[in-house]
Amino acid sequence: MSDTIFGKIVRREIPADIVYENDDVLAFRDLNPQAPVHVLFVPKRAIATLNDATAADAELLGKLLLAAASYAKSQGFEKEGYRTVVNCNEQGGQTVFHLHVHLLAGRRMTWPPG
Ligand code: 5GP
Repeated sequence: MSDTIFGKIVRREIPADIVYENDDVLAFRDLNPQAPVHVLFVPKRAIATLNDATAADAELLGKLLLAAASYAKSQGFEKEGYRTVVNCNEQGGQTVFHLHVHLLAGRRMTWPPG
């Protein structure tokens, strides 16, 4: 498993505000939220970046998105909507190299993103 801060959270070595978990995915609130709801969906089996994902990871990637959608719906955001984001490498804005899906909800999103 990866040795990033998210690996430590998955292994329960450091605390996080965990809001959702299944066999493959852990989700917790972002420390620096960019929306009223900002939750990170992290695969328990670490992949560093989207570049590193292979066909063997297709099911896991799907599970990440489905977990985010399931949580968003459970929180009442199905109709008004929400945003999911995967940042990749420096220009993509990735700072933690354990692939994750951001779920942002509770405010109107703008496009293009910053
Ligand atoms: P990235 O920039 O890699 O797409 O997203 C990393 C996210 O992780 C950032 O939004 C940042 O606020 C969040 N983050 C960084 N360190 C921690 C931490 O220790 N705990 C939690 N809950 N979030 C973190």
